[in-house]
Amino acid sequence: MTNLVEIDSLEAIIVIDNELDALSTTQPNTVINNGRLPNIAMASKAFVENRGACKKEFHMEDICCGAHGFSALLTATKDGVKHTMMFDTGPEGQAWERNAKRLGIDLASIERIQLSHWHRDHSGGMERAVEMITKAKPPGSEPVIVDLHPDRPAYRGLMAGPNPVSMQADPTFAEIEAAGGKVEKNANAHTVLDDMFLVSGMIPRVTGYEKGVLNGIRFETEKGTWVKDEEIADERFLMCNLKGKGIVMFTGCSHGGVVNASRNAMELLGGSVPLHAVIGGYHLVADQEVNVQNTVRDLKALKPNVLLPGHCSGWRVKFEIEKEMPGKLVPCTVGSRYTF
Ligand SMILES: [Zn+2]
Ligand SMILES: [Zn+2]
Repeated sequence: MTNLVEIDSLEAIIVIDNELDALSTTQPNTVINNGRLPNIAMASKAFVENRGACKKEFHMEDICCGAHGFSALLTATKDGVKHTMMFDTGPEGQAWERNAKRLGIDLASIERIQLSHWHRDHSGGMERAVEMITKAKPPGSEPVIVDLHPDRPAYRGLMAGPNPVSMQADPTFAEIEAAGGKVEKNANAHTVLDDMFLVSGMIPRVTGYEKGVLNGIRFETEKGTWVKDEEIADERFLMCNLKGKGIVMFTGCSHGGVVNASRNAMELLGGSVPLHAVIGGYHLVADQEVNVQNTVRDLKALKPNVLLPGHCSGWRVKFEIEKEMPGKLVPCTVGSRYTF
């Protein structure tokens, strides 16, 4: 059992996602503001030349940009106390900076950053994000805490036939500290920010079909060789327990399986709290596409209220959710603001 407390409200802003949709109307019940056109309207620039009755124009440069990765800003409130944290930082500093500025994020309010797992599409924006947050805080403030799994691979990659293909390195602990962050290494489940958020421990692999990254490898510097690393054992999810709704959970890539993660989230609260929402990467792409139907069947059995597959989920699972659970799919797109 955990110390996780019930919170009164939870807001999420998607700072980075693969997908952008600036015009669709939103799903009822979850989304209060898609964070895109209202922002543009507010930011629209006044001009003086003659365009008849029109005095303002909106700028394409105010719209967020999609990028391959995930980053969400989360704000939880309980009894009037508010806490804000980031979950992942997307693939590159420029992408994070651009969207954070376009969304007008209050950087100084960010107390912690949690990295879901060591993969560059989640960690690549880390240094820039930490620098910007550090700069935004008043002098003498507590540094932003960066919550990381201690087992950071030197490099991760994939076998392409007989040849290893490397990803870019994740930022090192030292680089994150140099940017102004305070590194906290955690391998086990723990609660943070007055117990309003829970970071999971290792996700138990129980479904049998959620097998991690096929042909995944990591480089072992001491041995100078690449070794098999399909499990991505460092992956963690983040969750809250929202009063009157239940579990709202955030997943980075779901290499450990979105069903495994969802079941674990429910178990961590003793099985008595319903599953309200699952947001983030479901990783049902490439070799994992064969698991779309199994996944949706097993998610359906957990009776979630809304599903927000983003990042690496792929389009197939979205169609399957809409087919099997009409009305439960909520698009997870960059720049969106959700209140659960
Ligand atoms: Zn990943
Ligand atoms: Zn990813």
